[in-house]
Amino acid sequence: MPDPELSVVVPMYDEEEVLPIFFERMRPLLDGLGISYEVLVVDDGSRDATASMLLEAAVDWHQLRVVRLLRNSGHQAAQSAGFRRARGKYLVTIDADLQDPPEVIAELLATARDKDVDVVYGVRSDRSSDSWPKRTTARMYYRLMCRLVGKDIPFDAADFRLVSRRVIDAVNSLPEDGRVFRLVIPWLGFPSAEVPYVRAERAAGVTKYNWSKMFRLAFDSVTAFSAAPLRLATWFGLLGGVLSGMFAVGALVIKLSGNSVPGWTSTVLAVSVIGAIQLLCLGLLGEYVARLFQSSQRRPQFLVGYDSLEDPGHETIDKPLDEVSAR
Ligand code: UDP
Ligand code: MG
Repeated sequence: MPDPELSVVVPMYDEEEVLPIFFERMRPLLDGLGISYEVLVVDDGSRDATASMLLEAAVDWHQLRVVRLLRNSGHQAAQSAGFRRARGKYLVTIDADLQDPPEVIAELLATARDKDVDVVYGVRSDRSSDSWPKRTTARMYYRLMCRLVGKDIPFDAADFRLVSRRVIDAVNSLPEDGRVFRLVIPWLGFPSAEVPYVRAERAAGVTKYNWSKMFRLAFDSVTAFSAAPLRLATWFGLLGGVLSGMFAVGALVIKLSGNSVPGWTSTVLAVSVIGAIQLLCLGLLGEYVARLFQSSQRRPQFLVGYDSLEDPGHETIDKPLDEVSAR
């Protein structure tokens, strides 16, 4: 089979509720583009019927390709898997929940061709469909990221974007793990364009991004791109040093003036303040050391358990995941 023109990468985690709507909307649209394509769904270790529904649909939708990760590895890791496995000349990443209207894919493609750019960001022109806490945290996140990466990160561009083969290869050649795509891709600096779109409500089901996943994303974003927290630790350390210096001078003056009162309270206070500062610094340092440690281990960021391309007859369709992945 020749390589398709377009790969549509869709990370999915427990999306059984949205799947029927997804097929209904995606297929006619992609068929109508008039180019060869593959829909590469990366099933991020779903525990519901997502995988079996996908394989069932792939029986008569030949462009649908299913790649299953052995366990839930996260949205960004699922995208990494998609980047590695995609064969298209262009690659579009899109969420399964149809918040990013698939109709815009045609526009992304046309913009890439007309303007001859390697990256086309889908940029949300209106976030009113998101809840207030989500909007506020998102705004804080993008402000911070713009400062940290020191580049124009398209504001409100999440993971709905088109990239060319050049970008796919560049991303795949990066040695780092724990990629945050929305930062890495602007950081690479390929020529880019933007297409505004209105973000819809989730078509069905509930968000798969809980607070801990959002926090993880924010933390990975910061530690991947900036040593600022480390510098903060240095500043705290300096401040602690100055404070303890002042404390020492004070204690000396009191002692020399002869009226040294056994200052239990101040001692405990000083010990706890300095202790707290040291712990904070150690914690921050620890985060970076942990990153170095992780990358020095060179652990795979994801493990593929199944690829429908390698199983044309879908013989393993009804087998449980354990058996499929043993192949
Ligand atoms: N997702 C994933 N792995 C996860 C969490 C989410 O692959 O651990 C997928 C999910 O199925 C969806 C996309 O990432 O296609 C975005 O997730 P969601 O729509 O739940 O996030 P939100 O839009 O609420 O930020
Ligand atoms: Mg969503």
